[in-house]
Amino acid sequence: MEYYVLTLFPDMIMQGLQTSIIGRAIEEDILRLEAVNIRDYTNSRHGKTDDYPYGGGAGMVMQAQPVYDAFRSVADRLSYKPRVVYLTPQGKVFDQAMARELALEKGIVFLCGHYEGIDERVIGEIVTDEISIGDFVLTGGELPAMCLIDAISRMIPGVLHNEDSAEDDSFGGGLLEHPQYSRPEVWNGIPVPRILLSGDHAKVDAWRREQSLIRTAERRPDLLETAAISPKEREFIRKYLANRDVL
Ligand code: SAM
Repeated sequence: MEYYVLTLFPDMIMQGLQTSIIGRAIEEDILRLEAVNIRDYTNSRHGKTDDYPYGGGAGMVMQAQPVYDAFRSVADRLSYKPRVVYLTPQGKVFDQAMARELALEKGIVFLCGHYEGIDERVIGEIVTDEISIGDFVLTGGELPAMCLIDAISRMIPGVLHNEDSAEDDSFGGGLLEHPQYSRPEVWNGIPVPRILLSGDHAKVDAWRREQSLIRTAERRPDLLETAAISPKEREFIRKYLANRDVL
């Protein structure tokens, strides 16, 4: 997978992603990451990349020309037509299914806006997907691009060394993950659930599945509508919630 990030702040991308698991995958050449500085492509003698909005109003707008030329500098050396993701609060809200789907691409170009955003004409010309990371407004698209790159990369074989861990994660099977515990057995007077010490894998799995169902029912009941749950498990949730409401 190769990622190209069109940005006014390339250091932010390179510094943010060259550590920990993603950094290791870049070193191992499973992932390639290139931050393209949009400013390097401006025709302005003063290195300007933004201007006042037509029609007036507060703030500045990133101009079409440098963004387009930065994009062409990438697209012209690729042998395929890449997906081009514009990070914007107006886009489709990102989720695990989108991460899984984007992980199948050969390469992705991310476009990060700043200030009031980007001239709509260049968005119309180059962008294939508009994606938001939630209903709030950030100062720039760099953090959202990093969120997407992190989540997508975890879906690519070889990035996580223990392949199983992505499957068990929250949203893997449409549910939130069960709680996790590590040593010591008792911390701050609080013991870990006894069943986790039993060594009985079938019982541990059953307990974890129940915890997963309970957590999802309590925290994200909306996920239960589409999660893969058996009729028996639906009945378990119904009884659990009925008992909880009585208490
Ligand atoms: N004026 C724009 C609007 O109301 O839609 C917001 C511009 S925002 C201050 C600047 C840039 O940050 C955007 O162009 C986008 O790239 C990025 N951004 C801000 N919030 C975001 C979010 N929730 N998801 C993805 N990108 C976001």
